[in-house]
Amino acid sequence: MDATGSAKCRWLFVLAAVVLAATCSAATGGVQHVFHISVDGLRPDAITTLGPGELPSFYRLRTEGAFTDNARADYFITETLPNHVTQLTARGVKDPYGNMGAGYSGHDWTGNGDPAPTDTLETHKGSYVAGVFDVAHGAGLTTGLYASKTKFVLFPQTWPGSIDYNRITDYDSPTIVTQMKDDIASQVQGYTFLHLCDPDRAGHDHGWMGTDYLDSVKTVDGYLGEVFQLIAANPDLTDQTAIVLTADHGGTGTGHADATNRNNYTVPFCVWGPGVMPGADLYAVNPATRLDPSTGRPTYYAAGQPIHNGEASNLSLDLLGLGAIPGSWLDFQQDLAVPDPATMTLLMLGGLTVLRRRRRPLPTC
Ligand SMILES: [Zn+2]
Repeated sequence: MDATGSAKCRWLFVLAAVVLAATCSAATGGVQHVFHISVDGLRPDAITTLGPGELPSFYRLRTEGAFTDNARADYFITETLPNHVTQLTARGVKDPYGNMGAGYSGHDWTGNGDPAPTDTLETHKGSYVAGVFDVAHGAGLTTGLYASKTKFVLFPQTWPGSIDYNRITDYDSPTIVTQMKDDIASQVQGYTFLHLCDPDRAGHDHGWMGTDYLDSVKTVDGYLGEVFQLIAANPDLTDQTAIVLTADHGGTGTGHADATNRNNYTVPFCVWGPGVMPGADLYAVNPATRLDPSTGRPTYYAAGQPIHNGEASNLSLDLLGLGAIPGSWLDFQQDLAVPDPATMTLLMLGGLTVLRRRRRPLPTC
């Protein structure tokens, strides 16, 4: 093989390695900080019904970040606390048929009321259940949990040593957002979880997709605007922070208990930050690993897996350059890609190169 052929082979090898790396990881350059935001009871069609004029911050997430309006809640349960355990552990509630294989099991938390003071995920399941706070805190990052329902006390009870800032209110989002901003002003956090209850409360009180419900989504848009302002105003956060936003469940009528109802199991999933491809459809940029379920409700064992709300924590860790939560299922491979335009160009170039080489004699390398 001559020197030119050898150089071409090396180029092909490097290109293949770049394409493989880009395909296998969502970490497109990495960030130092992640806000993982869960909007309780948020239906994606509330966002599109109101539009960018009413929801400038939700639309900033969508136009500057990557998103889908067709992610899925937990397969079995569309209630708040089990779906937040799913989000923070990257496990489904349960694996009743054992089809996930050895080493995989659910987090088993099915209750939706306030836990007893002695309740933890470990005491309930009978074995330790690791969470996103364990991984982030274990890597030396400062962590914070800000939740607007008292049932979230389950998490500091479960992981007392891994959550540095722990603020919980009783249906008081403005206070929780203020506390979060004050805490971060005094110490920047690596991983911050923020739960906003407003749409769920309005849905239960007045009905999902009614005027009060849609007004509550506008209120949440204001909180998102405060998060954007926080990032822009703090030089420790600007250009090195990602936002991952999803919901625990949707809702219809004045509830969301039926896990087989499309309006309950369909949730949004957005990721924003440096290195994220603006305006990308998350299913379109993950054709090999995720399958848009249309209106369906695939089991955790289906061949084509949808994007789940429970992927938010392992994606957050991936963006931070950290590994997945031990024992987790959802995005355990951390292969949910949010590629930036440069990576997509390389992927396209890689594909074109492969096609071009196929029309020529095989290289002798
Ligand atoms: Zn609810």
